[in-house]
Amino acid sequence: MHLGRVRAMRLSVPVYVPSQRPGRLMALLAPALLCGAVLIGTMYQRILYSLPLEIMQFFFPALVGLGFGLLCAGVIEHGPCRNPLFGRALVVAAVLVMWATSWATALLLDAQAASPKLDASTLFGQVDLDIFTRWVEARYDAGWTNGRRSTKGFIVGLSWVAELAVMFVITAWATRSALQRCFCEPCQQWLDTRGVSCHGLTAADAAPLVEAGDLARLLELRPLEDGVPNMRVALMRHQCGACRQTTYLSVDEVHTVPTRSGYRDRRRNLLRNAVLPDALARRLDARFAEIDAPAPDAPPAMPAA
Ligand SMILES: [Zn+2]
Repeated sequence: MHLGRVRAMRLSVPVYVPSQRPGRLMALLAPALLCGAVLIGTMYQRILYSLPLEIMQFFFPALVGLGFGLLCAGVIEHGPCRNPLFGRALVVAAVLVMWATSWATALLLDAQAASPKLDASTLFGQVDLDIFTRWVEARYDAGWTNGRRSTKGFIVGLSWVAELAVMFVITAWATRSALQRCFCEPCQQWLDTRGVSCHGLTAADAAPLVEAGDLARLLELRPLEDGVPNMRVALMRHQCGACRQTTYLSVDEVHTVPTRSGYRDRRRNLLRNAVLPDALARRLDARFAEIDAPAPDAPPAMPAA
């Protein structure tokens, strides 16, 4: 594969290759997820239009996206899905199903408001492009009112697309790490991750070593007393808790930024899931043992989180 070769050449170290298996429970979980998407979609519009404050109508798609993203991540984890392309396609399909169902429900609710005895199968048996277009136009004309300001026209359509985009981005964000995790095929379990932080270091310290594929020197990176404030390089070990056979290394640059609700970490990945040779894995084990050992004279270690 062209992309894979470029990445391997640039990194010059082998990385984790997923087995591409969709997961033995996926035949059950994938349809269940799509049913869940239909269920959430049918409730979505009813809840959205009953929310008391308009501001909540902006947060609601994001909240639903987050909840749905966590559900998707759970499905990928329990699948267990080691085929990232299949996992991504499933998430995209599920969000589209949820969004389409939510608007089909809106159409049904509007049609039932006009003729209360109408049921779903009769309605969707009759709907053609003409009826659908007239309904969208009616929705555009109705728009919504916020105090004295009313919103009508194509902005309404734009808000539907924005709603889909918000759900999509948040769901993708919530499932990202589930799709990047390493899996131990012999033990049939996900690898555990443990990290060590090198405070004061930035990507400038780690990136050249990543480019050179120098994992040994990466593992020698240590915190810098008078380094860059609020910056650190996190070395993360992924290892199977059962067999401890294959170990992988990921490296992130982490920037801690103050926000209104406390501090937040902004992570930038520099190296993902590089195969760590046994000798180097043992060096990292020793470093973790150092951290775990009680140091009677030293003040308590800074939390690595
Ligand atoms: Zn294992």
